[in-house]
Amino acid sequence: MGGYGSGNRWDSKTTTESQHWLDIRWLKKQGYLRPGNVGSLSWSRRGEQTGFINYRMETDRMILNYRYRLNGGEWEDVEQAISFDRTPCNYGGQRTWFLCSRCWQRVAVLYGAGKYFLCRHCYNLTYASQQESRADRLMQKARKIRERLGASNNLMEPILFKPKNMHQKTFDRLRIEEDHANTLSWVIAGQRFGWG
Ligand SMILES: [Zn+2]
Repeated sequence: MGGYGSGNRWDSKTTTESQHWLDIRWLKKQGYLRPGNVGSLSWSRRGEQTGFINYRMETDRMILNYRYRLNGGEWEDVEQAISFDRTPCNYGGQRTWFLCSRCWQRVAVLYGAGKYFLCRHCYNLTYASQQESRADRLMQKARKIRERLGASNNLMEPILFKPKNMHQKTFDRLRIEEDHANTLSWVIAGQRFGWG
């Protein structure tokens, strides 16, 4: 959100993982919460645009339209409706909140880290489990290739010998594939547990 985002309160880890967020206090300040208001929001980092969404305001919710893709995959169109909740303020008036689409908690900030904009709590859980299953899948892939090559199931051990009736080219290709999957799985697991 143009010019917004410096001096915020969340920790740097969350900020680097999720560069896109919506803050309802900021939207209110800009007057964007007016029902019927239609517009777009974009985020940028070092002068480069990293995200862009269209929105439409209704009385009790906000509809987002954007395109999303996971790790360089196919783009998909996403529409997300985010409901609002209102609580009275001590000195009159009311405060508007987002209701997280996943856990229905009242929150002021939603993060667009994955496919949807969710609260920090949901986002951290979702992100962690996604990364975990991604690392698992890569390890399984590496183990499968090892099995084909007749190598040890232990991912720490090198693959030394080519099976007798396998072409050298196939062997080289599989060994590279195994190396990529194996290495990447450790990199992801490392990020997950904070080794990296
Ligand atoms: Zn949530």
